[in-house]
Amino acid sequence: MADTELAAAIKSALAAVEIPGGADLASYSGLSEIIVTPSAVAFAIAVAPGMEAAFGPVREQAQQVAQKIAGTRKIMVSLTGGKPPAGPTFSHGKPVPAGKTKVPGIKHIIAVGSGKGGVGKSTTAVNLALALQAEGLRVGILDADLYGPSLPKLLGIDDRTAIRDDGIFAPHDVFGLKAMSIGSMLVKDQAVVWRGPMATAALRQLLRETAWGDLDILVIDLPPGTGDIHISLFQQTEIDGVVIVSTPQDLALIDAKKAIDMLRRLQVPLLGLIENMSYFIAPDTGTRYDIFGSGGAEKAATTLGMPFLGAIPLVMAIREGSDAGQPPVIARPTGPEAQAFRTIAQQILSNTPTLRN
Ligand code: ADP
Repeated sequence: MADTELAAAIKSALAAVEIPGGADLASYSGLSEIIVTPSAVAFAIAVAPGMEAAFGPVREQAQQVAQKIAGTRKIMVSLTGGKPPAGPTFSHGKPVPAGKTKVPGIKHIIAVGSGKGGVGKSTTAVNLALALQAEGLRVGILDADLYGPSLPKLLGIDDRTAIRDDGIFAPHDVFGLKAMSIGSMLVKDQAVVWRGPMATAALRQLLRETAWGDLDILVIDLPPGTGDIHISLFQQTEIDGVVIVSTPQDLALIDAKKAIDMLRRLQVPLLGLIENMSYFIAPDTGTRYDIFGSGGAEKAATTLGMPFLGAIPLVMAIREGSDAGQPPVIARPTGPEAQAFRTIAQQILSNTPTLRN
């Protein structure tokens, strides 16, 4: 069955699920779109405050109805818009709290995503974290790019992650950031093959079983594109918002639009769009060249109705510094590239002042 047919079939089957008040779930305006991926089906049910407990059985029933149609795909149904319903559900034998929950000790989470790989998402995540730190905040960074972890290289982390006696990970302390990456637990250059559920469980563990201490903001470097890892993370964790990194080329923007579309459907707040490799600054004269016809992301942000957060130049200092584990915000704090990251961090904080609280 094609994905769209499967989504439609599940939606009609949800007509058999009664919601409080007597109407059926399929015609309930709070039912989100039904998202189908190769291994999962996800949808959300928006619930008015105070109605969470009443919707608990609706969620259970919706889950069962969807599972009958979706075969081996994992079903993820979340209740949004209110507090999580009481009581744990069980996944792979381990209790998993239902609904979106906060990570203890972490006040805010910003995730950095992109439509595809190679657009500078990880570079942006690292420098954005450092730029937020430069605004006086306590910041951590989590590499959720389990298939291609690049944080150890970007931050120059050579040592393996320590595990405390109680089994909790001790994050790396680097340039003042608390940093965690699966890359620091694997044998170097080893290819990782994750089955979907393992990847989501691993990310959950990295996020929730790390001694982050007290952080104002945790920056999460997401895997590129859209997949199960994103869906489970967004359904299980309270995320303040996502920033999307894109290059000026149209193709990357088309991919970015897909990612944005998914976030909207999962009801995750969008903090805005960042254009990376936007313009070139001649090292000798300092002249700016818009070699890719920059401005694409800014226009796209306007069209998509989300804030444009700023542009990052294409400069050798970024590539060289990143390859050497010396992020530009630290290595060349007065350089134009560091300034670009600082401006973006300031823009995010001024658009969403609650991030400082
Ligand atoms: P992604 O996380 O999207 O896969 P990376 O952050 O790993 O992308 O960046 C891909 C490559 O591009 C890296 O070699 C990085 O150093 C380089 N890069 C990223 N942004 C810039 C930039 N603004 N100027 C020059 N090189 C960049």
